[in-house]
Amino acid sequence: MSNKILVCDDEEGIRESLKLILADNHELILTDNGEQCIDALKNNSDIKLVLLDIKMPKVNGLDVLKNIKEIYPDMNVIIVTGYKSVETASEATQLGAAGYIVKPFKSDEILETVKKYVS
Ligand SMILES: [Mg+2]
Repeated sequence: MSNKILVCDDEEGIRESLKLILADNHELILTDNGEQCIDALKNNSDIKLVLLDIKMPKVNGLDVLKNIKEIYPDMNVIIVTGYKSVETASEATQLGAAGYIVKPFKSDEILETVKKYVS
């Protein structure tokens, strides 16, 4: 069974943190923009979970989420963002996000959440 996780965040520090937390037990694909994120999904049919940032320079994470859900309605997407707002959280949920993690996150939070979707 696949344990592949796709990360999309424009900040290198966040991608590196997630890598430190997850790389021992998961196969990771790291991307830094929405276009790369969608490409990675198209090229890897065994991705089980997407960890998606909201604030990114080119394409906003909510638009990336919309796009993902149009193409892969059943894909698990967790929003990981420093942009703490109830509106964004509920919009993301309405768009089909499975959950929401606010930065700065603790490694336990990431591991607990990921465990629900990836073995
Ligand atoms: Mg960002």
